[in-house]
Formats: sequence, structure tokens, C-alpha cells
Amino acid sequence: MPTIYDVIENVGRELYLRALKDIPADVRAALRKGWERERQSGNRSAEQVMFTILENVRTADAQDTLVCQDTGLPVFLVDIGADLGINVAELEQRLRVACERATREYPLRSNTVHPLTRKHTGVNTGEGIPVIHLAFIPGSMSIHIRMAPKGSGSENMSFLKMLNPSEGIRGIRKFVLECILESGARPCPPVIVGVGLGGTSDTAMQLAKKASTFRGIGSRNPDPEIAQLEQWLLEKINQTGLGPQGLGGATTALAVHIEWAHTHISQNPVAVNIQCWRGERAEAIVHADGSVTYLDGAS
Ligand code: SF4
Repeated sequence: MPTIYDVIENVGRELYLRALKDIPADVRAALRKGWERERQSGNRSAEQVMFTILENVRTADAQDTLVCQDTGLPVFLVDIGADLGINVAELEQRLRVACERATREYPLRSNTVHPLTRKHTGVNTGEGIPVIHLAFIPGSMSIHIRMAPKGSGSENMSFLKMLNPSEGIRGIRKFVLECILESGARPCPPVIVGVGLGGTSDTAMQLAKKASTFRGIGSRNPDPEIAQLEQWLLEKINQTGLGPQGLGGATTALAVHIEWAHTHISQNPVAVNIQCWRGERAEAIVHADGSVTYLDGAS
């Protein structure tokens, strides 16, 4: 009889592969919408780029293979039912083994290297890798695991600025737009832009990652002022004309998502994390009885 930790390990391995092979339904819909927009605007080159992206997704489906060569660095977001009595050290170790098994058994390209020597670990794990964020949910008896293999074309386009509070919303808008223009074609547009506002510097960066990677495309922040800023930024980013793969067009971003936290009276942290078009993520719920429900990655 497999233990709950055996199940977690198998789910972690499966999520790594699913995230690389199966683009979530909401990302597919947003890509199709982008193709339709470019087609209607009569921009043949942008339409062709969007068509090629959709063909790429179809080919990966048909051949049951990876959508892109970059197998990323594994990042997990795990919501643990507080009533389950889970041994967190064991859970973290099993997710690490899950990544190593996915890498060896599929096999996947390993990307994980020492930051100075650049020596490969060979198994997509290492010091601090996988990245695992844990939260404990009162009254819950299940474990919600979300996984994203963060490719570097987009992850390299990550920015943090400690703005002066007096710069306010104008400073935030300006910084986000500057990040988009500086990134250009490098994060493989059309992108999903994640913005983290507030907290401390590290919180802001984590919020930006959560916003770019784990939110359903086009979902709006429940705070109306934040939601308004999301919409404003999306319109302005798409007016830059960068377009799909930076070759011109109206579809530079599929979505802008903002997550926020309160901050210090004399701080104004703004972080930007840009996710490329493949929007890689997968998720599952492990129930107390060991059964598993795989979700389509758009929660
Ligand atoms: S940015 Fe995304 S689509 Fe482009 S090469 Fe990297 S993982 Fe692939």
C-alpha cells in the first residue's frame, strides 16, 4: 500500500512532465484569441507567428512530447491541509526525488548548475532546487500541488525596483512598461506579465512569480484598483507594437496579473516576472485517502 509520501512523489514527477508537455486550457484559449486578433488586424507576419506557436502546441500534443526544449528549473507551490499532519521535511524530500526521477526516467534535459563553477548536477535538483513554497490551510485534509518548470528565456526577464513611495502609481506603470521594452523578444512574446507590489523586496519577487505563473489567464485581482491597473497595463503593453516574438503586432501580452501585499510606509517595492507564451504549469490535489485529482492548471 503506497504511503501519502509515495503518492506525493509520483504526483510531483507527473506534474513536471505534464507542465512541459500539456499547455493549460486557458493559455491555449488566449493564444487562439491572439491569433484571431492578428488575423483580423491583417498583420500577416504576426498572424503567421501566432499560427506557428499554435502549430507547435498541436505537434507536442500529437507526438506526446515537450512543447519547448527548455525543461526549466522546477518550482512548486504546495498548499498543505493543516489537519493532515504532514511531515514537511519528508514532503520536500519526495518532491526533490520526483524531479530527479522525471529527469532520469523520461529523460529530461538537466539545467541545474552551480552558480560559480557552472558544474551540472545532472538531475534538475541541487542546492535550493526545486524551489518549494509551502502554505498551510486550516480545516483542509488535502494537498494542492502546483508545479512550474521555469524556463530561462522568460525567467531571465525578472526585475525588481525599490521605488520611492512618492512615485506612486505613475512610477509603477513606468517601471513595468520599461521592463517590457527592455525585454523585447527575449522572453518569447506573447507573454504573461506578473507584477508583485509591496511587501519586502523578496515578497514582491515571489508575488510577481505567483502572478505570472500560477494565475488563470485574464483573471482579475479582486481589489478593484489593482484590477484597473492590470487592465491599463495590458492595454499599454499591447500598444507598444512589439508583438508575437517581437516581430511586430498587437499581441505582446496575453495577460497582466498583479499580486500585492502591504508594505512599509517608506518602501514601494515593485517586481516584474515575465512568463513566456507556453505558460507552463500543472496542478493536482492529493486527497487524504491517497487518491489524486489532476486539474488543468488554470486555478
Ligand atoms: S522563453 Fe519559453 S518558449 Fe522561449 S525558449 Fe524559453 S521556455 Fe521556450
